[in-house]
Amino acid sequence: MATIEATGVVVRAAGEPPRLEPIVVDDPGPGEIRVAVTANGLCHSDHWAIANGNWGAPWPMLLGHEGAGVVEAVGLGVTSPTPGEPVLLTWAMPCGVCPSCVRDRPRRCAHGWAQPPRMRTADGATLTGTLAIGTFATHVVVHAAQAVALPPGLDPLAACLLGCGASTGVGAAVNTGDVRPDDAVAVIGLGGIGLAAVQGARIAGARRIVAVDLLPAKFDAARALGATDVVDASVGDAVATVREMTGGVDVALEATGVAAVVAQAVAMLGRGGTAVAIGVPAPASDITLAWGEGTPGAAYPNKVRLTVTDGGDPVPEDFIAWLGWAADGRLDLGAMVSRVAPLTEDEIGEGLRAMLAGEVVRTVYRVDGAPLPGTA
Ligand SMILES: [Zn+2]
Ligand SMILES: [Zn+2]
Repeated sequence: MATIEATGVVVRAAGEPPRLEPIVVDDPGPGEIRVAVTANGLCHSDHWAIANGNWGAPWPMLLGHEGAGVVEAVGLGVTSPTPGEPVLLTWAMPCGVCPSCVRDRPRRCAHGWAQPPRMRTADGATLTGTLAIGTFATHVVVHAAQAVALPPGLDPLAACLLGCGASTGVGAAVNTGDVRPDDAVAVIGLGGIGLAAVQGARIAGARRIVAVDLLPAKFDAARALGATDVVDASVGDAVATVREMTGGVDVALEATGVAAVVAQAVAMLGRGGTAVAIGVPAPASDITLAWGEGTPGAAYPNKVRLTVTDGGDPVPEDFIAWLGWAADGRLDLGAMVSRVAPLTEDEIGEGLRAMLAGEVVRTVYRVDGAPLPGTA
């Protein structure tokens, strides 16, 4: 099989720093496409995978799961997308082959993409992509269904956020949490996913959107994107404050990955409300919920629901709709791009540092994956 040489961000083992390395990329096989990547966002889940492992996949790992680029070659049987077409790459697309997909419940997809590995290190080690995709390279092979055509005029450096952070937050609000017009919503944690959840709640018609964070510096962005109220969780009792303001919310969206915050989200609910746990938890973590009558926000007899999402539970039509929202301005992706950086090892280290320090919503990398001569 023919291969091309590319450059990718490789992590050799848990806790090792990401390295920019030459990689070898196969031609796309049946049902696959090769994409010249132009933009890649750095997400908390990238850091989670570096620290904790790639959800059970073997090392080494090709980092990245929030990319956009241009299709440069398609495999047997692929009619869409077509070479030359700009695309969003997303891990969260239903795979079609896991037990949930086979039973026609694609929103419960386990992302069980059954593809042979197409990327290797220069010394021949098989690379598995972060979250079963891997987008942080100049050229990658993905399943054709993991790509969605970008509407004309959408900047890939912003649109790539719909590959993970923006789609997860918006989907958690409109799919998993099922925010309805006139709802009161709390969003806890105002990173990229939380700000996207604020926007999803606004687009769904929420009457009140209470944005909660420990860092007041994040409140201006939340207000600009749709929050009607803000709560500084570093002072006082955020649960009591949100309950006082709203009488208990219809939907509470947790975007921190901290177990105690999931319990707080449930405790913020009014009768019949839904809490959505979006963040990726620490391995082997537990939560404790107030259950019995007598505690404000106790699960009984409040008839609350707690649901867990791993990417906003999208189906293909959702991506088309959300890209449309981005194109018509309802979904402001540009506001969530704090910084555009060149693809260097130093900048990847700096991007991880700034993300963990809470200094940025997103660092997006400009990837010079120009299509190879004669391929597009
Ligand atoms: Zn599936
Ligand atoms: Zn992500």
